[in-house]
Amino acid sequence: MVLKPPGGKRQPQEAGCAVSGIVVLDEVTAGQIAAGEVVERPASAVKELVENALDAGASTIKIDLTEGGLASIAVCDDGCGIVSEDIYLAFQRHATSKIRTASDLGHVTTLGFRGEALPSIASVSKVTMTTRVAESVLGTRAEVHGGSLVAVTPAGCPAGTTVEVKDLFYNMPARRKTMKGPAAEGAIIGEQVSRMALSRPGVRFELCTHGKRVFYTPGTGRLIDAIASVYGFQMGKEMLAVTAVDGDLSVEGFVGKPSLSRSTRSHLTIIVNGRYVRCPVAVRVLEEAYRTMLPKGRKPVAILSLSVPPEQLDVNVHPAKLEVRLLEDEKIARLVAGALRSVLHERSVIPAAVPDRKYKNIFKSNERPNTSQWPALFSPTMVQTPQVSQLVPSGQVDEPVPQVVYGKAVNSNVSIEQDRLNEKKNDMSKLPVLFPLAQLLPTYILAGSEDGLYIIDQHAAHERVLYEECLSGQGKYPSQCLLVPITLELEYKEATILSEMVLWLTDAGFIIEHFGGNTFLLRGAPAYLPAGSEKELFLDIIDYCKEKGYIPDRTAFLERLAASVACRGAVKAGETMTLSAMEALLHRLARAENPFTCPHGRPTIIHLSRSDLENRFKR
Ligand code: ADP
Ligand code: MG
Repeated sequence: MVLKPPGGKRQPQEAGCAVSGIVVLDEVTAGQIAAGEVVERPASAVKELVENALDAGASTIKIDLTEGGLASIAVCDDGCGIVSEDIYLAFQRHATSKIRTASDLGHVTTLGFRGEALPSIASVSKVTMTTRVAESVLGTRAEVHGGSLVAVTPAGCPAGTTVEVKDLFYNMPARRKTMKGPAAEGAIIGEQVSRMALSRPGVRFELCTHGKRVFYTPGTGRLIDAIASVYGFQMGKEMLAVTAVDGDLSVEGFVGKPSLSRSTRSHLTIIVNGRYVRCPVAVRVLEEAYRTMLPKGRKPVAILSLSVPPEQLDVNVHPAKLEVRLLEDEKIARLVAGALRSVLHERSVIPAAVPDRKYKNIFKSNERPNTSQWPALFSPTMVQTPQVSQLVPSGQVDEPVPQVVYGKAVNSNVSIEQDRLNEKKNDMSKLPVLFPLAQLLPTYILAGSEDGLYIIDQHAAHERVLYEECLSGQGKYPSQCLLVPITLELEYKEATILSEMVLWLTDAGFIIEHFGGNTFLLRGAPAYLPAGSEKELFLDIIDYCKEKGYIPDRTAFLERLAASVACRGAVKAGETMTLSAMEALLHRLARAENPFTCPHGRPTIIHLSRSDLENRFKR
């Protein structure tokens, strides 16, 4: 039941104290409500007041704080207001205009429904509410101190409602003492209001402390505008749009490129039916989607808004309504996972080498480069430019220098480039066509493309390639016999682990022979492993299981194997590569499912675009 602005005529009430829009719930209904502490700290009072403003259909909500909300909180809205007769009821426990009977709990569409917030806040502070419905000329002001009604008077005021809460916990000195300082309480409120603003991009939010505006959202209805206001334009620009629908379920929102990660979940906001909540299912899916894209311990930035039919959502499970129960959570998990997979594996996740501070480009992140300029990019002057010999220590360039590579392109003009473009289109690569130009330091591969320069971390890129190639082999690899078998003297526990996993290890290319007791001989190892790393890798896997204290399932085993192989097999930073090796690596990287990060989440590639270059050279 959506809260409607009370009209001149009263609706007859089905239950409760049938005198007005607000009713006192009957005992059975009140008893079914998950009751609890509503006002824990200033931020919880702000949350309840803002929720009331949203339920009242406000399009602008202004929040003013002094002393981090401890001295005063004022929430002013332009919503439907309260008729003067109802103002007494608004402060009564279990009095609400949003539900009538227990059965309404099954399809709540408002943020509030318990009729508890105003009485709870008023019992621990000094509240003044000024309110007017648009149809009345005069509004009403009510003052409630410590739960007792002090005065109700007519008042001239704009349509809408302002609730001012002063001296929170003035009558609960012990509680008051447990509050943090004004700055910390103010910060908690800031985060709370930010998330609510993100949950309702159509509403204009303004937060002020001591009369100074801390932030505001424009209320355009576009989530990206709210994100840019709350987190800044630069961050807004680094977000990728997510959207997916499955029947009556849908997910919409923005997720950060891996380069935006945070150390906590502070920038992770899940909204379910317009309500900011903790939603473990969505968080799990999100973190899983970013798993190999972020370094360990880093959390993604995301604002996801889920929409589910109200009857599939139980909002009455948490006293502060911070958690909800989703009846079809697995279906939702699949929907979110699918949406994330498609967006996170797109080229747009490549971080820019030069951060762009300009606002004007913020919403045009998917611009395509103008390919008609393609031949001009690889003009003869450009072709002769790279001085590879200066970038790689001299004497180590055993490949034709780039002039030769590009010489072909110049002679046959556009056609080769066109071929490459077509090839790219055919193989659905997530990277642009990249031409290795040189190796730098020598740890990075510099590669030219239709849209500027790409810089690739050779180790990270090779690690990603090997990781995915290993995984796609499903743990079955050819083995290569070792010239000299390696003796492995294991502890009892290690030997047990080994015997449990011997089939998987054999599949993976290890040839293992039991020598007696806890001693084994390693006679062969996967063919792709660099010589000398066989024993280390083998023990790595055994150690991993030992540390976990169990034999992993096959998927976990394969992932661990792939990660170890990738880490040991990949070309190291500082190792010189030939041009053809670079080209081959870039080619393999382009075919990876996620070519943008190594398995530990570090970026493999960054981009210095044509427009970055133009900006820097002030063209
Ligand atoms: P609930 O929101 O659960 O109904 P509250 O105690 O928060 O309970 O509010 C009681 C009632 O007061 C609401 O149901 C609503 O009718 C009215 N009310 C509270 N705040 C506002 C507001 N800002 N604008 C209009 N009506 C409000
Ligand atoms: Mg409420």
